[in-house]
Amino acid sequence: MLIKGMTAVLTGAAAPDGIGFATARRFVEEGARVAILDLRQEDCARAAESLRAIGGPNAAIGAAVDVRDRQGLAQVAQHLQTTFGKLDILVNNAGIAQKRRLEEVSAEDWHATLDVNLMGMFNATQAMLPLMTDGGAIVSVASIAAQRGGGLLGGPHYAASKGGVLALTKSLARELGPRRIRANAVNPGVIITSMNRTAFDAATQAGMVASIPLGRFGSPEDVARVCLFLASDLSAYVTGTAVDINGGMHMH
Ligand code: NAD
Repeated sequence: MLIKGMTAVLTGAAAPDGIGFATARRFVEEGARVAILDLRQEDCARAAESLRAIGGPNAAIGAAVDVRDRQGLAQVAQHLQTTFGKLDILVNNAGIAQKRRLEEVSAEDWHATLDVNLMGMFNATQAMLPLMTDGGAIVSVASIAAQRGGGLLGGPHYAASKGGVLALTKSLARELGPRRIRANAVNPGVIITSMNRTAFDAATQAGMVASIPLGRFGSPEDVARVCLFLASDLSAYVTGTAVDINGGMHMH
């Protein structure tokens, strides 16, 4: 077990077919206790319950909080202080995407997307940092859109928010290095979740798959495995970087 006895917080992790939940499940399978943060209490409770069925009665808790809500996050951190005592891993995963062209993006769209995807990461990191043990790990979910621009993969505001996630990750790595806290990101390509399951018609899908050397879209588990690597000591000397998980769809 790679992270046995560790504690982890994952934002946006209640959707049963999402990247956050798949990562939380992988963490529990590897011996961690997890806190599932997401918007709705009933979703968090359901997700935590299904993880307790895998990892035992202490394996998971759920807490409803919006990553835009700094006060709510502070309350969750206080709750975690009493239940977990310390925090080893933070996964900043909560995100929203709008597939829009530049001329269609309103100021409200821009702010809504940046508030969740980028400021949400900042808020959650600031709230959880006081709980984090020296030697802990932060993993943030960016996107291939940060590397290639939006288009089919999300609008320009989505791409900009994820570019911000990559820049903030580097700042965290620099500032937190002296505490041996590592900060890394992942750049998923097209991962089939509720975010995009119905986003592409059959012809578009076929064209996209044809452009992926591994010949398929990704699964949430593909991302979860890399998050596990970045959260565990397997990546003890890796910080300030991002791992692409895209089947070869984009290469540097
Ligand atoms: P998803 O929609 O299944 O999961 C997103 C989760 O975030 C949901 O559970 C949602 O309730 C939660 N969330 C949204 N706004 C929130 C807020 N304000 N506060 C707290 N929680 C909030 O989608 P997913 O595909 O699993 O996405 C997870 C992450 O992966 C996102 O950051 C997304 O941008 C990123 N990503 C996804 C893909 C893909 O192809 N699916 C590709 C690249 C990056």
